[in-house]
Amino acid sequence: MTPPEQDGKILAANGICRVLASFLPQEALETPLWPATALAAGLIVGSFANVCIHRLPLRQSVVTPRSRCPACGAPITARDNIPLLSYALLGGRCRGCRAPISLRYPAVEGANGLLYLGLAWQLGPTLHAVVMMAFTTALLVLSLIDLDHYLLPNVITLPGIAAGLAASLLPGPPTPLGSALSAAGGYVVFLGVARAWRGLRNVDALGEGDWKMAAMLGAFLGWQQMLLTVFLAALAGTAVGLGLIAFRGRTGQHKLPFGTFLGFAGIAVVFIGERLVAWYAGLLHG
Ligand SMILES: [Zn+2]
Repeated sequence: MTPPEQDGKILAANGICRVLASFLPQEALETPLWPATALAAGLIVGSFANVCIHRLPLRQSVVTPRSRCPACGAPITARDNIPLLSYALLGGRCRGCRAPISLRYPAVEGANGLLYLGLAWQLGPTLHAVVMMAFTTALLVLSLIDLDHYLLPNVITLPGIAAGLAASLLPGPPTPLGSALSAAGGYVVFLGVARAWRGLRNVDALGEGDWKMAAMLGAFLGWQQMLLTVFLAALAGTAVGLGLIAFRGRTGQHKLPFGTFLGFAGIAVVFIGERLVAWYAGLLHG
């Protein structure tokens, strides 16, 4: 006989294990090569994402020239450009001038690596997983560019919409029609909200970049998960906005980059959106 309190603990532990196991499909456990490859690819693509975040808003090429130290201008050699490892070995400083390198570079690399590892686990070795990897990296890049510049470049959002529509031809949701309607719907709703907001408050809360980003989210995710993304982004944006006002007073009331919230919410929805939508549908239908 185990005391009832211990029974409860065993039940809870079993429950937690079952939830964790639901994130790990059997095939992912059987083929450790796939998650390992995904992690490595995620780190390398994350390194390229840093270049995109830095150069796309400045309308510079992401291919040439080689990356340079922003302090001394020395080109960064291949051996100093290994994701995470180089940063650690160099102690976060330029080899030439010892100027500190922003912690954001390894953070973006590491985050992108973890995203790919998570997707590899959750979706298995599928084309769908690869599509979602590209999608989450695009969202990460858009989020950080919007944070820095209040800008969501067309060179990401427009091909992003096209890629989302093309990806809907693969098996699984959304259907091609659903993807196209969700993209159009996202664009039109954001445009409408922006116009209404300008009419009511005379402020531009949502720029054209946000309309296109909403279309891209709709094309990839379908309308239910797109709405969930917008809802979570608005919730997070409101929380951060109120937090800034609380800490900094009215001076904290400056414009927030909504694309940043949309991007991070979109990434969350890629992982938990299906479960949240199913849970919500269960609530409605009892
Ligand atoms: Zn330097």
